[in-house]
Amino acid sequence: MAILSLHHVTATVDDAQGDLDFCLGGLGLRLVKKTVNFDNHHVYHFYYGDELGTPGTIWTTFPYAGRGVQAGTKGAGQVTAASFSVPTGSLSFWRARLARQGIAVADVEPRFGEPAIAFADRSGLAFELVANGGDERRPWTGSGVDADAAIRGLHSVTCLVRDPEPTIELMTDLLGFSVVERVNGRVRLGVQGAGPGRIIDIADNDNAAAAVNGLGTVHHVALAVASEDEQLTLREDLLHRGARVTEVRDRCYFKSIYFREPGGVLIEIATMQPGFTLDEEPARLGRDLKLPPWEEPNRAGIEAALTPVTPA
Ligand code: ZN
Repeated sequence: MAILSLHHVTATVDDAQGDLDFCLGGLGLRLVKKTVNFDNHHVYHFYYGDELGTPGTIWTTFPYAGRGVQAGTKGAGQVTAASFSVPTGSLSFWRARLARQGIAVADVEPRFGEPAIAFADRSGLAFELVANGGDERRPWTGSGVDADAAIRGLHSVTCLVRDPEPTIELMTDLLGFSVVERVNGRVRLGVQGAGPGRIIDIADNDNAAAAVNGLGTVHHVALAVASEDEQLTLREDLLHRGARVTEVRDRCYFKSIYFREPGGVLIEIATMQPGFTLDEEPARLGRDLKLPPWEEPNRAGIEAALTPVTPA
């Protein structure tokens, strides 16, 4: 049972300031790291989450406005919705808070017994808040949302595929997930008890067009493993199954490997350690632009090319 929970979800979004305003002023998350895309240092990489950016609470964005990236298209082989966990009874608070910010909110037909609301950011990304009573994670309240309503962390992601069975087989055979429930067009998979932050829904539609990456689409979902040893073991197991897996990449705050599951969704396996306090004190998380050691020699040029932003 290698996988502990979701680790983070990463999306391509439009402009950096708009993203900060939405994630801090809208969702009430904490900015836990302001860095750059390690594969393109002219683009920010924002990490949001709870107080320390605990794996399972992390939402991350690449704001690609002005870099020639087109709007993406949601479709098969992609995470099509990111869902956050909120307490039972808090949805009316969220409807009002989001409406005040001009965000249109829709009710979701309750799934698996949990009421939810749906909305989009300015890039067109699909979000849900799922109300439930079982989430003991301590929320961040420093962005203006009280503890009785604040987001606890990720609840789940929805992956859209054309044929669900090969995806389900990989997730259950290799990654330790179990089928929680099947409803029409959707299979809920859970790991380690299948609580909030430990759920992946596989939605299927054999007529779905292929997803196109771009602004307003999720790039990948990351799953957490306890150690680098477990990551290497899982990498070998994936290779034995014929998956094309990257080498281990150093993301500073965790180590990562990437592969596509049979339905085409890009999945990352990320370590729990060392976390976001690696290079900042807990109280100062997200304040300064942090760069990986190998980019420090380029700091002046990187800072000059980034649009200045103000946390909400
Ligand atoms: Zn990632």
